Amino acid sequence: MTVLSFWTRLWRRLRIRMAPVPHIPPPLWLQTLQHYPFLNALALHEQGKLRTLSALFLQHKQFHGGHGLVVTDAMAVAIAAQACLPLLHWGNPHQALGWYDDFVGIVVHPGAVLARRQVTDEAGVVHQYAEPLVGEAMERGPIMLSWHEVQGAGHSAAQGTNVVVHEFAHKLDMRSGTADGCPPLPAGFMGTRSARAAHALWWAVWEPAYADFCERVAMAQRFGGAPPWLDAYGATAPAEFFAVVCEAYFVQRAQCALELPTLVPLLDAFFQRP
Ligand SMILES: [Zn+2]
Repeated sequence: MTVLSFWTRLWRRLRIRMAPVPHIPPPLWLQTLQHYPFLNALALHEQGKLRTLSALFLQHKQFHGGHGLVVTDAMAVAIAAQACLPLLHWGNPHQALGWYDDFVGIVVHPGAVLARRQVTDEAGVVHQYAEPLVGEAMERGPIMLSWHEVQGAGHSAAQGTNVVVHEFAHKLDMRSGTADGCPPLPAGFMGTRSARAAHALWWAVWEPAYADFCERVAMAQRFGGAPPWLDAYGATAPAEFFAVVCEAYFVQRAQCALELPTLVPLLDAFFQRP
């Protein structure tokens, strides 16, 4: 980085910090809280913090509509409020939003998007297929969301699912370099003395929970038993398990604590929930 680019970046950052925080009109904010029960259930002071975070988020991010969708203020506020939920207890809102500073764009499509995928099997044969996506987080790149899913998140919260939290949980996870199911852990995390020890502690709890979940999903699929409460998509990879658990943690915490008693204390510590 050159000296000039350093000062230019610093000036830009200061200018953004000094700029007045955009205002979310009270009726719009109230409408957002009422639409999503997990936001409505927050304490008043938490809703106030979430509103500040959401306003700053809207100042820094750019929304784009896909397939002719016009992203309204109500849509942008709904996405901002859910995206900022994980940042709620991370102190200074400017610093907390630093977790999302590796991207600017949020692309919102009316519904699921078909993504072209390609896999090569063991015999070397290439298979092409289309996968419907309701959300996607790209490393250092934009977030894609289906508005149909975002809008329905008030109802789907009963099942512990939330597409916005899912994609932004991937963003947190990616800050450690790759999305592997372990976000960067702060020094002293749960009393550990080094980043390595914190990492080891995380995996000592997380790995058996993931293995157990995969086993339960496989048993349900093979033998037709009752599937686990958590979205079975979590069994596709450790990174997906982390994102799926975060969804449940933020929109249906009580049930999440019953289903995943070993993981919730780690998430409480990571998200600094009082
Ligand atoms: Zn995912």
